[in-house]
Amino acid sequence: MNIAVMTSGGDSPGMNPAVRAIVRRALVKECKVFGIFNGYEGLVNGNIKPLGWHDVGGIISKGGTFLGTARSESFRTLVGRREAVRNLVSHNIEALIVVGGDGSLMGAHVLAQEWKEHLQALNLGSNIPQLKVIGLPGSIDNDLYGTDMSIGADTALNHIVRALDDLTSTAASHQRTFVVETMGRHCGYLALMAGLAGGASWVLIPEEELDLRWHKKMLDAIKKARQVGRPHQMVVVAEGARHADGLAIKSKEICDLIAGKLNLDVRLTVLGHIQRGGSPTAFDRVLSTRLGVAAVDMLLDNPEECKCHMVGLRENRVVTTPLEEVVQKSRAVGEEIEKGNYSKALELRGDSFRRALELVKMLTRITPAKECTGEKTILIMTGGADSPGMNTAVSVVGRCLLNHGIKVLASRNTFLGLLEDDIFPLDWHELVGWINKPGSEIGTARTIIEDEDFHTIARNLRKYNVAGIIAIGGWGTYEKIWRMVQSRSTYPEFKIPMILIPASIDNNLPATQFSIGTDTALNVIVDSIDKIRNTAGANRRTFIVEVMGRKCGFLALMGALASGAEKAYLPEHGISIRELTDDVEVMKTSFECGKKMMIFLRSEAASRHYTTDFIRRLFEEEGRGGFGVRTAILGHVQRGGIPTAFDRILACRFGAQAALSMIELVKNSSDEAIALGLKGRGVVETPFEDAAKEMDIENARPKKQWFMDLYEVADSLALPYPECGVDSKPSSDQVVDEEA
Ligand code: ADP
Repeated sequence: MNIAVMTSGGDSPGMNPAVRAIVRRALVKECKVFGIFNGYEGLVNGNIKPLGWHDVGGIISKGGTFLGTARSESFRTLVGRREAVRNLVSHNIEALIVVGGDGSLMGAHVLAQEWKEHLQALNLGSNIPQLKVIGLPGSIDNDLYGTDMSIGADTALNHIVRALDDLTSTAASHQRTFVVETMGRHCGYLALMAGLAGGASWVLIPEEELDLRWHKKMLDAIKKARQVGRPHQMVVVAEGARHADGLAIKSKEICDLIAGKLNLDVRLTVLGHIQRGGSPTAFDRVLSTRLGVAAVDMLLDNPEECKCHMVGLRENRVVTTPLEEVVQKSRAVGEEIEKGNYSKALELRGDSFRRALELVKMLTRITPAKECTGEKTILIMTGGADSPGMNTAVSVVGRCLLNHGIKVLASRNTFLGLLEDDIFPLDWHELVGWINKPGSEIGTARTIIEDEDFHTIARNLRKYNVAGIIAIGGWGTYEKIWRMVQSRSTYPEFKIPMILIPASIDNNLPATQFSIGTDTALNVIVDSIDKIRNTAGANRRTFIVEVMGRKCGFLALMGALASGAEKAYLPEHGISIRELTDDVEVMKTSFECGKKMMIFLRSEAASRHYTTDFIRRLFEEEGRGGFGVRTAILGHVQRGGIPTAFDRILACRFGAQAALSMIELVKNSSDEAIALGLKGRGVVETPFEDAAKEMDIENARPKKQWFMDLYEVADSLALPYPECGVDSKPSSDQVVDEEA
């Protein structure tokens, strides 16, 4: 099959990894691939060139799109599209993959619909009765129906969240109020989620119907916040936000209003095109790679079924939706907003969007809705190893409970606090500032609990009148909570509801596909590998990068997938000496063929004996001077760092759900033990007993791990030269660009 790929409309970070995945997957499947340069303009002008394996080397980490993108007026005309068909036919192209927003997908749909008509008019006698068209959602706004996330949205969100963090520190120094304008003409996703993750004081989005006196409410909130000692505020406004009468709200207008009415020092930051740029995040690289591979596989496996569809990711699964439906439903929200039907627009965005808006409103409260009665007390703890995003979870759980008038206590350093009677109350104002803090303010510790310690724990639970426990942590914390549940006949104090929130960079927990902290760690790994790739003078060098994960290969596998590394050694597969010697042969041939650098990821527990250093020495010895080998053990940097937008949003979602469920369980005098998770339809609750059955206890990882299905994808996109599907190998003296 001859397949063409193009990027179109507004660019978005992740378009390059999408093109890389499409090109390489197609080559692996023995297709011929063409790149169309500069969007539909290039299609109309015939700017079409064949693409090989190396053409997409080194682009996985680059922002923008190396194919270029454009807005094309000529493609909007029948004449222009006829030229496009002529060019496609002249290259015998049977399938077109377009990465772009709703306009680009609409263009692709129109082209597919008109294909036969154009063929007849051109009288070209093509043997392609129907052009197959697949769309990939490329839009930083995340405004496309048929996918939970579009390519580029996560990167844009992280830009905004980082900007909010940075502005918060300068705002705090000068006691200033900042108004921050984000992109999103018809979609408030970026402003809303950034407001949630960045701890905004007020958020304005196009989908929300504002009452006539919204400015009064906002001003009152800012004034009150100052009175309670919060000296700086952050108002986040989407560019498409509007007054109740439909007139646009200008961010400058908000600045003038706050400055004029409250006599405050207000500054405006319009984030603008910064949001579109930069290296794609790990999430965007994985998303675009999965969708790119799926698009090619569908064309080849089900050619009849994918005539005119978009591939998207819903509930972490690849799904297809007819392009027409994608465009129509994506535009419907904007149309409702234009008509002033805000509640309909909000409804169309879906439940999780609506819940996020409700949560933002609750979190921006200056004081809780209810006064604390102290009748019921809930204990929070963060446990085991720390994981970025734990503070966000504590901040949200705590405030959701306090907002319902429930007293919240924290046990310092997980179970240690319960053993040493180091238990203290959490305060609303203190929790506000924890939303973006790394680490855990209430402390974590890996504590060994003996059965006799339960007596002390029970005594302290009784002393503080604890009616429920919310534990945020990894498998060690899960196990201890479970032991408490199993000791209930001895300790009636344990007959209280217990909710577990998964937080572990290893992503090795049951009943969830993602844990809090995993995304931050993955981004650290991917950033580090990008830096390693940039080391000057690294010629004919293999890097072995050791990553964390214990007995779970998530970080190694996804790190390899997102960084374009050659291979990942996983604990799930182990390492054999035969494999290592085969890898040496692959390296020798690759370097002889002109490759400059190869990257192998090794999960810290991939093998007990074949350690990172052992592998380095083996490679060096067997390579016999043909190449150098270096190691990079990333270690604890993976645990640290400011939590990414994804981890903060996940923590917010888990936190809000845990608090609401806890309130219900306490009300019903239930003693359920529940593990929260993100899988299937959003946040789900699994009875701990069932969650435990999912675990391979010996290896402390789930028996079935969804990401292992991606091993073949990661492997196939980073094939070494001899199998890489290029017609001719580069000669050894030719310098070839670094492969990614
Ligand atoms: P995005 O894909 O980011 O939404 P645009 O809306 O600008 O960006 O669309 C990109 C290009 O797609 C347009 O410049 C045009 O060439 C093409 N396009 C958009 N809508 C149509 C349409 N209805 N018919 C044909 N081509 C279209």
